Amino acid sequence: MSFAEPSRDCPLCPRLVGLRNELRAKFPTWSNAPVPSFGPIGAKLLIVGLAPGLKGANRTGRPFTGDYAGDLLYATLKKFGLAKGEFIADREDRAWVPDTLTLTGVRIANAVRCLPPENKPTPKEAATCRPFLVAELADMKNLRAIVALGRVAHDAALAALGRKISSAKFAHGAQHDLGGGRVLADSYHCSRYNTNTGRLTTPMFEAVFAALMPKLG
Ligand code: SF4
Repeated sequence: MSFAEPSRDCPLCPRLVGLRNELRAKFPTWSNAPVPSFGPIGAKLLIVGLAPGLKGANRTGRPFTGDYAGDLLYATLKKFGLAKGEFIADREDRAWVPDTLTLTGVRIANAVRCLPPENKPTPKEAATCRPFLVAELADMKNLRAIVALGRVAHDAALAALGRKISSAKFAHGAQHDLGGGRVLADSYHCSRYNTNTGRLTTPMFEAVFAALMPKLG
């Protein structure tokens, strides 16, 4: 069976459903639903993030849109020819006004598709949402590389591929051989916190993609 996104009312994580319902009552113009992946299923590259942010993807319904996390990500994807059009962060506290950004050579998914309180999904929630990532990976027939944004995404990608977490240790800039010419590349998450504190700089992030591009063929 081919990959299908969870329904808007996916009931599988009670804590996240409770938060979703609260936010639907409070902010009826926001998406407040599982955030579907963005980009073509035939892409050679998959970026795996952690989970939607409150006023970001949870509001807009598109990964890395609506807060600060997309600024560095989409600028980098455009620089490497993986995205085109105009990205507008749209940080207004309102219903999302879509821009013209499209992804051409990359797809973006979250390890956990619903907003978790304080950006922290529990291990059980990560495991419950994992089958969606498993099915998505199985449908990405051209996949050559995965970029994991942060350790939780790294662990989620390994688990979704049926690998032991101990088989590859997360380290910014590391590339792990997945066999069959595929690689898993690690980066610190491009969150506002990480970019503001200098934990992740633009050259550091761009270097992850520069090292990966030759492997995409
Ligand atoms: S996090 Fe995933 S599994 Fe849990 S409710 Fe949302 S879509 Fe469903």
